[in-house]
Amino acid sequence: MSKETYIVILGAGESGIGTALLAKKKGFKVFVSDNGKIQKKYKDVLLNNEIEFEEGTHTKKRVLQADLVMKSPGIPDTVPLIKQIDEMGTPIISEIEFASRYTDAMILGITGSNGKTTTTMMLYQILKTAGLNVGEGGNIGDSFARQVALDNFKNYVLELSSFQLDGIVDFAPHIAILTNITPDHLDRYEHNFENYITSKFRITKNQKASDYLIIDADDKAINNWIKKHKIEAQIIPFSIHKKVTKGAFLKDNKITIILDNNQFTMGLSTLAIQGNHNVKNTMAATLAATLMKVRKKTIRESMENFEGAAHRLENVLKIRGVQFINDSKATNINATYYALDSMHKPTVWIVGGEDKGNDYMELMPLVREKVKAIVCLGNDNSKIIKTFRNVMPIIVETKGAEEAVKVAHKLADQGDTVLLSPACASFDLFKNYKDRGNQFKEAILNL
Ligand code: ADP
Repeated sequence: MSKETYIVILGAGESGIGTALLAKKKGFKVFVSDNGKIQKKYKDVLLNNEIEFEEGTHTKKRVLQADLVMKSPGIPDTVPLIKQIDEMGTPIISEIEFASRYTDAMILGITGSNGKTTTTMMLYQILKTAGLNVGEGGNIGDSFARQVALDNFKNYVLELSSFQLDGIVDFAPHIAILTNITPDHLDRYEHNFENYITSKFRITKNQKASDYLIIDADDKAINNWIKKHKIEAQIIPFSIHKKVTKGAFLKDNKITIILDNNQFTMGLSTLAIQGNHNVKNTMAATLAATLMKVRKKTIRESMENFEGAAHRLENVLKIRGVQFINDSKATNINATYYALDSMHKPTVWIVGGEDKGNDYMELMPLVREKVKAIVCLGNDNSKIIKTFRNVMPIIVETKGAEEAVKVAHKLADQGDTVLLSPACASFDLFKNYKDRGNQFKEAILNL
């Protein structure tokens, strides 16, 4: 890009501000436009760096003059302004694409429906422990663009949403991880699961034969797609059900890693965070770290000490023999499936919120096996009640975290678990999943 190229940045969140900083540094003429209110911390960055911006509106005239548009992942393609920019032939890219044009760093990209944050944090922790110069970004923490502008790391571990991948052109991670694909965000993909799958696979579209794509070989959607499409990168599978000749698999309660001449095992009991889904996440992160030539001793130590992320099967507290677990981040059926699957005690399950088109029947076998009572926590719980009323003796509706926790505690006996794993978004009763998880934890502390 030559100097004075005019970039318009739509959306002044973390990715927008990161892009603005990097674009300014690279000599672009920058204009940031957000039709909502810009958070103070971001506005201060714009003011301090003398970057032009507007809020509460998009001034069409200014936006349409752009040579290049960076669109925040939260803005759908269907918005009229975006359509108009597209029709004019102006390139619209994501922050990930923009930032990748200004770094030669090694990129490790992680996408999938569930497990992105956990796997990203695991891989970052291993690489950091190994002493690599590495940044962690994307959907987590500081944006990739901000880090390219200010830190210039030699390696990046990036959590990538499908929306960020939709806006890439040449972005190509050397190592990509695809954790799994189950229906989510279908409202943004014309309610077509195939479109969403295709979006996830964009992570590998620019990879070359010298690059790697690490995948969950137990995942139906991934396997189907791979059968039908050519992938340039070397595919490295992991599985908890079958043996693979190259990749990771389970045997005798140990994870076995086989990559060329490198073979080693890790006992499941040594892992700091448990559950089959975390075994998968551990496999994915370990394979990537092994490809990065990290020593097995470092990998083992990192996984033994890994603390996990808040709101993801987070052990909160044991009160009078009842263990409370916060899995507020479980906003779809698949995440809750793994949560219920990893329960070993009779469970009072707190579920509900804003439903994104859930089919609760998928949880039926686990509910029958593990759940003793259901506490609904949503505005509209009718689907949950309808699905489970014939198999569940107790279903109680509540309208807030405090009430849900009190009711659940009453229903639980000593030795039981109370699990908040909503399988739904939180926006009906809470600001976001963090707010829901925090209110849940607060209510437990107040018991
Ligand atoms: P993401 O960043 O993709 O949303 P997180 O690591 O934040 O993923 O986890 C989101 C939810 O999914 C949590 O409830 C977590 O327990 C669950 N989860 C984590 N890893 C997996 C996995 N590999 N498969 C299914 N569910 C998972």
